[in-house]
Amino acid sequence: MPSFGAKSRERLATCHAQLQDVCNEAIKHFDFSVTCGTRDKAAQNQAFAQGKSQKRWPDSKHNSLPSLAVDVVPWDSINRRALWGNSNYEMIQIGRLVQVMLDAANAVGVKIDAGGNWARFNDPFHFQLTNTPASSLQILPQQYPIHRRTTW
Ligand SMILES: [Zn+2]
Repeated sequence: MPSFGAKSRERLATCHAQLQDVCNEAIKHFDFSVTCGTRDKAAQNQAFAQGKSQKRWPDSKHNSLPSLAVDVVPWDSINRRALWGNSNYEMIQIGRLVQVMLDAANAVGVKIDAGGNWARFNDPFHFQLTNTPASSLQILPQQYPIHRRTTW
């Protein structure tokens, strides 16, 4: 059974408990990495500048702590690399991961939206809570050192 590496666990720990439940269920069925949980101001505005997000800080669901969104990518444990969709095979793996995440959300009773289902800014690596939990919000991490990204 696949399991998360240290970096994935660290990033997942910045996500809302409901997203942690979804990911911890999904990893039982499919190998993937968590690439992003919460994003501080610098990271969000960098993502915007690079075209990887359409939102500036603090408008993304990644900008609270805990994060209401999580980014994931299929992980090839044999070749030790993420599958970003650079071949048909990789695209199929991404599609599988979307389905695994949606199935896992159903299994644990959490409603999530898959960025892969968005027509306007399709983002198959992104998942977010459909409903904003009342208890979770308004802590905006200006500086949140463990989330300095080293990879995309
Ligand atoms: Zn995202």
